[in-house]
Amino acid sequence: MLAEIASALGAIRTGSDIARDMASADSLDEVQGKAADLFGAIAEIQQQLAAMQIAYTSLLGERDALDREVAAMKLATLDRQRYSLHALPLGGLVYRFKATNGRADVAHDLCVHCYDLGTKSVLQPNGTHLVCPTCKLRLRAKGEASPAAKRGGVCLWSV
Ligand SMILES: [Zn+2]
Repeated sequence: MLAEIASALGAIRTGSDIARDMASADSLDEVQGKAADLFGAIAEIQQQLAAMQIAYTSLLGERDALDREVAAMKLATLDRQRYSLHALPLGGLVYRFKATNGRADVAHDLCVHCYDLGTKSVLQPNGTHLVCPTCKLRLRAKGEASPAAKRGGVCLWSV
Protein backbone atom coordinates (compact mmCIF):
# COMPACT_ATOMS: atom_id res chain seq x y z
CA MET A 1 0.00 0.00 0.00
CA LEU A 2 2.99 2.32 0.53
CA ALA A 3 3.79 2.10 -3.19
CA GLU A 4 0.23 3.21 -4.06
CA ILE A 5 0.48 6.13 -1.62
CA ALA A 6 3.83 7.22 -3.11
CA SER A 7 2.40 6.95 -6.63
CA ALA A 8 -0.70 8.95 -5.68
CA LEU A 9 1.43 11.66 -4.07
CA GLY A 10 3.60 11.79 -7.19
CA ALA A 11 0.52 12.11 -9.42
CA ILE A 12 -0.86 14.88 -7.18
CA ARG A 13 2.47 16.73 -7.41
CA THR A 14 2.44 16.37 -11.20
CA GLY A 15 -1.17 17.62 -11.40
CA SER A 16 -0.33 20.55 -9.16
CA ASP A 17 2.64 21.49 -11.36
CA ILE A 18 0.45 21.32 -14.48
CA ALA A 19 -2.25 23.46 -12.84
CA ARG A 20 0.38 26.03 -11.82
CA ASP A 21 1.68 26.13 -15.40
CA MET A 22 -1.88 26.55 -16.67
CA ALA A 23 -2.51 29.43 -14.25
CA SER A 24 0.55 31.27 -15.53
CA ALA A 25 -0.09 30.48 -19.21
CA ASP A 26 0.03 33.36 -21.65
CA SER A 27 -2.54 32.04 -24.11
CA LEU A 28 -5.64 29.90 -24.37
CA ASP A 29 -3.80 27.52 -26.67
CA GLU A 30 -1.17 26.98 -24.02
CA VAL A 31 -3.88 26.28 -21.39
CA GLN A 32 -5.66 23.84 -23.67
CA GLY A 33 -2.37 22.12 -24.41
CA LYS A 34 -1.85 21.50 -20.69
CA ALA A 35 -5.45 20.32 -20.09
CA ALA A 36 -4.80 16.83 -21.49
CA ASP A 37 -1.80 16.46 -19.17
CA LEU A 38 -3.92 17.56 -16.21
CA PHE A 39 -6.65 15.03 -17.06
CA GLY A 40 -3.98 12.35 -17.27
CA ALA A 41 -2.63 13.29 -13.83
CA ILE A 42 -6.14 13.22 -12.35
CA ALA A 43 -6.79 9.78 -13.90
CA GLU A 44 -3.55 8.53 -12.35
CA ILE A 45 -4.62 9.85 -8.95
CA GLN A 46 -8.00 8.09 -9.27
CA GLN A 47 -6.31 4.83 -10.23
CA GLN A 48 -3.92 4.98 -7.29
CA LEU A 49 -6.71 5.85 -4.85
CA ALA A 50 -8.74 2.88 -6.08
CA ALA A 51 -5.73 0.60 -5.59
CA MET A 52 -5.24 2.02 -2.10
CA GLN A 53 -8.90 1.40 -1.26
CA ILE A 54 -8.58 -2.25 -2.31
CA ALA A 55 -5.36 -2.67 -0.33
CA TYR A 56 -6.90 -0.98 2.71
CA THR A 57 -9.97 -3.23 2.59
CA SER A 58 -7.70 -6.25 2.41
CA LEU A 59 -5.68 -5.02 5.39
CA LEU A 60 -8.86 -4.51 7.42
CA GLY A 61 -9.86 -8.10 6.69
CA GLU A 62 -6.44 -9.37 7.73
CA ARG A 63 -6.55 -7.27 10.91
CA ASP A 64 -9.97 -8.66 11.83
CA ALA A 65 -8.76 -12.22 11.24
CA LEU A 66 -5.69 -11.58 13.41
CA ASP A 67 -7.87 -10.07 16.15
CA ARG A 68 -9.98 -13.22 16.16
CA GLU A 69 -6.86 -15.40 16.21
CA VAL A 70 -5.35 -13.46 19.14
CA ALA A 71 -8.62 -13.73 21.08
CA ALA A 72 -8.72 -17.49 20.47
CA MET A 73 -5.06 -17.82 21.52
CA LYS A 74 -5.73 -15.91 24.73
CA LEU A 75 -8.60 -18.24 25.56
CA ALA A 76 -6.45 -21.28 24.74
CA THR A 77 -3.65 -19.95 26.95
CA LEU A 78 -6.05 -19.47 29.83
CA ASP A 79 -7.40 -22.98 29.30
CA ARG A 80 -3.88 -24.46 29.20
CA GLN A 81 -3.09 -22.89 32.55
CA ARG A 82 -5.69 -25.17 34.06
CA TYR A 83 -3.44 -28.22 33.48
CA SER A 84 -0.11 -29.36 34.88
CA LEU A 85 2.25 -32.15 33.89
CA HIS A 86 1.69 -35.28 35.98
CA ALA A 87 3.59 -38.60 36.05
CA LEU A 88 1.47 -41.72 36.25
CA PRO A 89 2.74 -44.29 38.79
CA LEU A 90 3.21 -46.96 36.12
CA GLY A 91 4.99 -44.61 33.74
CA GLY A 92 3.88 -42.05 31.25
CA LEU A 93 3.05 -38.41 31.51
CA VAL A 94 -0.28 -36.68 31.24
CA TYR A 95 -1.51 -33.18 31.67
CA ARG A 96 -3.80 -33.35 34.67
CA PHE A 97 -6.64 -30.96 35.23
CA LYS A 98 -6.02 -28.71 38.22
CA ALA A 99 -9.19 -28.59 40.24
CA THR A 100 -10.19 -25.11 41.23
CA ASN A 101 -12.77 -23.94 43.67
CA GLY A 102 -16.06 -23.01 42.20
CA ARG A 103 -15.55 -24.85 38.93
CA ALA A 104 -17.91 -27.57 37.90
CA ASP A 105 -15.41 -29.27 35.58
CA VAL A 106 -14.79 -32.93 36.20
CA ALA A 107 -11.19 -34.01 36.83
CA HIS A 108 -9.55 -35.44 33.72
CA ASP A 109 -6.19 -36.01 32.03
CA LEU A 110 -4.98 -34.84 28.64
CA CYS A 111 -2.66 -36.54 26.16
CA VAL A 112 0.77 -34.84 26.33
CA HIS A 113 1.54 -35.54 22.66
CA CYS A 114 -1.69 -33.97 21.42
CA TYR A 115 -1.46 -31.15 23.97
CA ASP A 116 1.94 -30.16 22.59
CA LEU A 117 0.47 -30.16 19.07
CA GLY A 118 -2.32 -27.83 20.21
CA THR A 119 -5.07 -30.42 20.45
CA LYS A 120 -6.94 -30.89 23.69
CA SER A 121 -7.60 -34.60 23.80
CA VAL A 122 -9.03 -36.12 26.98
CA LEU A 123 -7.59 -39.56 27.77
CA GLN A 124 -10.21 -42.26 28.06
CA PRO A 125 -9.99 -45.35 30.30
CA ASN A 126 -9.78 -48.69 28.51
CA GLY A 127 -9.12 -51.56 30.89
CA THR A 128 -5.81 -50.93 32.57
CA HIS A 129 -4.84 -48.20 30.14
CA LEU A 130 -5.67 -44.63 29.32
CA VAL A 131 -6.12 -44.17 25.59
CA CYS A 132 -5.95 -40.99 23.57
CA PRO A 133 -8.92 -40.89 21.17
CA THR A 134 -6.98 -38.62 18.82
CA CYS A 135 -3.51 -40.15 18.41
CA LYS A 136 -4.35 -43.56 19.95
CA LEU A 137 -1.51 -43.31 22.50
CA ARG A 138 -1.91 -45.91 25.27
CA LEU A 139 -0.63 -45.33 28.80
CA ARG A 140 -0.61 -47.95 31.55
CA ALA A 141 -2.68 -46.49 34.31
CA LYS A 142 -4.07 -49.37 36.33
CA GLY A 143 -5.70 -47.99 39.39
CA GLU A 144 -4.48 -44.50 38.67
CA ALA A 145 -6.84 -43.40 35.99
CA SER A 146 -8.45 -40.15 36.88
CA PRO A 147 -12.01 -40.99 37.89
CA ALA A 148 -13.31 -38.38 35.57
CA ALA A 149 -11.31 -39.68 32.63
CA LYS A 150 -14.42 -41.70 31.96
CA ARG A 151 -15.96 -38.54 30.65
CA GLY A 152 -14.85 -35.92 28.22
CA GLY A 153 -14.01 -35.87 24.57
CA VAL A 154 -11.88 -34.07 22.07
CA CYS A 155 -11.81 -30.45 21.24
CA LEU A 156 -9.27 -28.36 19.38
CA TRP A 157 -7.29 -25.55 20.83
CA SER A 158 -6.67 -22.77 18.43
CA VAL A 159 -2.91 -22.67 18.93
ZN1 LIG B 1 -3.00 -37.92 21.76
